Amino acid sequence: MTKEEVRRYLEFYQDLGVKNLYRRGGAGEPVTGSSEQAAESGRQVAESGRQVAGTTPSRLSDPLIPLVLPLGPGHDNLAKISEDIGDCKRCRLHEGRNRIVFGSGSPEARLVFVGEGPGADEDEQGLPFVGRAGQLLTQMIEGTARKEGIPLKRADVYICNVVKCRPPENRTPQPDEMEICGQFLFRQLQVIRPKAVCALGSTAAKALLGTTLGVTKLRGKWHAWRDIPLMVTYHPSYLLRPYNQNAKKEAWEDLKLVLHYVYD
Ligand code: URA
Repeated sequence: MTKEEVRRYLEFYQDLGVKNLYRRGGAGEPVTGSSEQAAESGRQVAESGRQVAGTTPSRLSDPLIPLVLPLGPGHDNLAKISEDIGDCKRCRLHEGRNRIVFGSGSPEARLVFVGEGPGADEDEQGLPFVGRAGQLLTQMIEGTARKEGIPLKRADVYICNVVKCRPPENRTPQPDEMEICGQFLFRQLQVIRPKAVCALGSTAAKALLGTTLGVTKLRGKWHAWRDIPLMVTYHPSYLLRPYNQNAKKEAWEDLKLVLHYVYD
């Protein structure tokens, strides 16, 4: 197994909420650390804490030894993620929701848009970006693509949110809500493995980049979520406000960059 494959496995388990792994068999001494560190370096795996596979902790530092884990990144899929979410009550957002808004679009999408969380229309229909902001997002995607000569419909991309349940009064999701739901977003991205991700607004940017910088500072240039190029742009709800018309031009510029990168 290559270092890159080991890294993918570890990131996948991290997304499942598993922080510590044991290796079955072998005579080596225990290796300490966290799966986050291991995912970073692609070479070290943790011991201590929740046990996943096997019984005897042993050395995992050699990436050429096959890693046998019950689940792998190649075995996950959107249906399984949705099933794992189930009738989720992991955070307080479940209390006010009508529908879980998982995501929509092509599972083979080369481009994924990530918003903040469902609003009232989305909560009612169980689909992301179907209200006014969603109509603007559709126009932005399809209008920009058409102008740029790229044959692309909304259904060709994938759209989802950081949190899958509507926050009360459409407030910004809180850090613990983002963290709990973020594991499912990460799995969605890991499964789809798009060529690029477009983060809509600062909440999506924060969830995916771990930054507290605002959109103005982040937009217009490439970042990365893991090894996938990521562009941050304004959230369509922000663009709907009449005094933000300059931001609209900038969002169109950002989208052009993304569409040409992905579809040229
Ligand atoms: N705003 C979002 O961030 N997501 C939606 O799905 C709708 C509005």
